Amino acid sequence: MNTTEYKIYIDAVIRRVESARLKVSPHHIVKVVAVSKYSNSDEIKKLYEIGQRAFGENKVQDLKEKANALENLPLEWHFIGNLQKNKINNLLDIHPALFHALDSLELAHELQKKLEARDMTLDALLQINSAKEQSKHGVMPESACEAYAQIKKECPNINLKGVMSIGAHTEDREIIKKSFDTTFEIFKQCEGATICSMGMSGDFELAIECGSNMIRLGSVMFNK
Ligand SMILES: *Cc1c(COP(=O)(O)O)cnc(C)c1O
Repeated sequence: MNTTEYKIYIDAVIRRVESARLKVSPHHIVKVVAVSKYSNSDEIKKLYEIGQRAFGENKVQDLKEKANALENLPLEWHFIGNLQKNKINNLLDIHPALFHALDSLELAHELQKKLEARDMTLDALLQINSAKEQSKHGVMPESACEAYAQIKKECPNINLKGVMSIGAHTEDREIIKKSFDTTFEIFKQCEGATICSMGMSGDFELAIECGSNMIRLGSVMFNK
């Protein structure tokens, strides 16, 4: 696709986001994070040139390489993947705009220690395993509110901004919807939460209709 064709293609994606958000309310704003994990720096630059600013990666090493390669562009980098303890320092070196996948109290405490030592803060979302899938990370929905409050209390260098979830891994829309509804209920109960990150290429319209205000789009944004 040349730039003009790509622009037309992205306009159509944005129209889908628009019509889903307008079903919720004209005041319901949804932010798109373009997940670039299957894409290279040239492809990211192309998307930047037609207006996209926020990008997400799920591996610290990839985030580091792409952020370095594109450091001259005013991009906003999100880290959306599982964070191993031995990669915390590498992630903090990059100063990501938002860490979407804070998935345990234990990780929160490790992060707090490293943040304190650097005298820095990090914006983060609590990942919730709303579909209760073994293959997924995140706190269980039953303990999410308590974990959220505990992190806020015990980890002053982590700015918890809200919650994140990956929709249930199934073709059954009702089950996916249920997992989004579960996350949204928790989002509403968490004090001070402003970001509800849920929805990917295959389910973002449903996620928005369930209250999501941040969607993470990979394949659909890069036409893969
Ligand atoms: C890969 C990934 C996405 C984007 O997936 P697509 O289906 O390509 O949109 C979103 N969120 C997380 C956590 C991911 O790992």
